[in-house]
Amino acid sequence: MNLVDIVRSYGIALKKVGRVYQGICPFHDDSNPSFTVYPDTNTFHCFGCGMTGDWRKFLKLVDPQYCDQFSLDLSSLQDFIDQTSARDYKTYLLLSSATFFRTLFRKVPASKVLKIMQLFDEYITSRDSIPFEEMTQVLKKLKTIGGKLE
Ligand SMILES: [Zn+2]
Repeated sequence: MNLVDIVRSYGIALKKVGRVYQGICPFHDDSNPSFTVYPDTNTFHCFGCGMTGDWRKFLKLVDPQYCDQFSLDLSSLQDFIDQTSARDYKTYLLLSSATFFRTLFRKVPASKVLKIMQLFDEYITSRDSIPFEEMTQVLKKLKTIGGKLE
């Protein structure tokens, strides 16, 4: 999993400077681009606030609600991430959505959940691969639908 792509999918502009990428840090009030992504190690470090870590740490920090909502056990996905092609996140999407639907069944009438599942299934099966950015948008959309039904 490419951390540069993940960071950019959150609307953070990264500029290539030599072998690293730099941008405005999302974790502190940053005016100079002190947030640095290292493609070689797939890690980040901020020279302003000292925040540092890998892609899992970044997702948990930048989008904790997203990780909680879908109960993403990011560490258990490490093998999958290591083995899969960098941009194919269909399995990742299915894994995280399974938990989402289980939660939804407890909150809204089953008939409505089944309707959402059907739409979701049609979307998934119509695609060969789903880029990370699109995946986050789909899951956010599903979250919104779930919220409206409550
Ligand atoms: Zn920072």
